[in-house]
Amino acid sequence: MTVQQPIKTPVLPDAQTVTEVKHWTDTLFSFRVTRPASLRFRSGEFVMIGLLKDDGKPLLRAYSIASPSWDETLEFYSIKVPDGPLTSRLQKIEVGDQVIVRPKPVGTLVTDALLPGKRLWMIATGTGIAPFASLMRDPDVYARYDQVILTHTCRTVDELAFGQDLVDHIPEDPLVGEEAAEKLHYFPTVTQEDFVNRGRITDLMRSGALYDALGTDPLDPAHDRVMICGSMGLNTDVKAILEERGFKEGSNSAPADFVLEKAFVG
Ligand SMILES: Cc1cc2nc3c(=O)[nH]c(=O)nc-3n(C[C@H](O)[C@H](O)[C@H](O)COP(=O)(O)OP(=O)(O)OC[C@H]3O[C@@H](n4cnc5c(N)ncnc54)[C@H](O)[C@@H]3O)c2cc1C
Repeated sequence: MTVQQPIKTPVLPDAQTVTEVKHWTDTLFSFRVTRPASLRFRSGEFVMIGLLKDDGKPLLRAYSIASPSWDETLEFYSIKVPDGPLTSRLQKIEVGDQVIVRPKPVGTLVTDALLPGKRLWMIATGTGIAPFASLMRDPDVYARYDQVILTHTCRTVDELAFGQDLVDHIPEDPLVGEEAAEKLHYFPTVTQEDFVNRGRITDLMRSGALYDALGTDPLDPAHDRVMICGSMGLNTDVKAILEERGFKEGSNSAPADFVLEKAFVG
């Protein structure tokens, strides 16, 4: 349940105040913090966030901003790594606590790194849905594409909850609700439990089951653009499938057909 309390004034450099915390499972949570006045970012980018260590030095990690670029607060979606240097402590934050947010956004999961197209595919595993949580709430995405397809693969059904909740509520969004209701297609899959869609997204792409389920043509660089955010293995496997089909990898300086970013290192 989301709890709202009065906001304390930040006192540390780059410190922002936690305004909401929501625990989705034993291993996943999301939170919102106040937005630094100097922070301008493109939906899909990441920043360094963290906490002070006992020795007073900052412990920072890369985090995708899960809220869209127009939002007044910043949302993050986080794993809880047992014994993880940052997340073993970050998972205990409460409303009113302070989190360091370095206001220097970067990243390749941005519409600027893709050539114009008709369909945008956003392929995520685990916390890799975070940048797409930002993009799916950005009006620019619906202005650029006729269809936006989000696939999210997790081990268990409960790990889909953050994404499922966003998709369930997006029709009520005052900025993108109408367009999202028409253009956004959501394809959740689960690898380790019974579910309506089962299996790794790469297997479902190779077998064609993904396209059958969505009622779409297979991926085609003539009109499809793809963003990938997951484990190293997922990124490498989807990239191979795309390159076999003639897709070229893009970047901020040389936009092309697909872009990818690691959801974590390791
Ligand atoms: C570009 C980029 C964006 C990122 N965005 C996010 C984000 O939005 N949300 C988020 O939770 N993490 C994100 N991460 C990972 C994040 O930077 C940290 O690794 C994570 O918060 C754990 O920190 P830690 O200090 O507790 O453990 P670490 O020492 O950083 O990690 C310990 C081990 O935990 C595993 N691990 C770390 N992060 C994840 C993860 N997200 N999912 C599954 N396994 C993981 C890895 O095996 C890693 O070796 C991102 C990483 C990169 C490179």
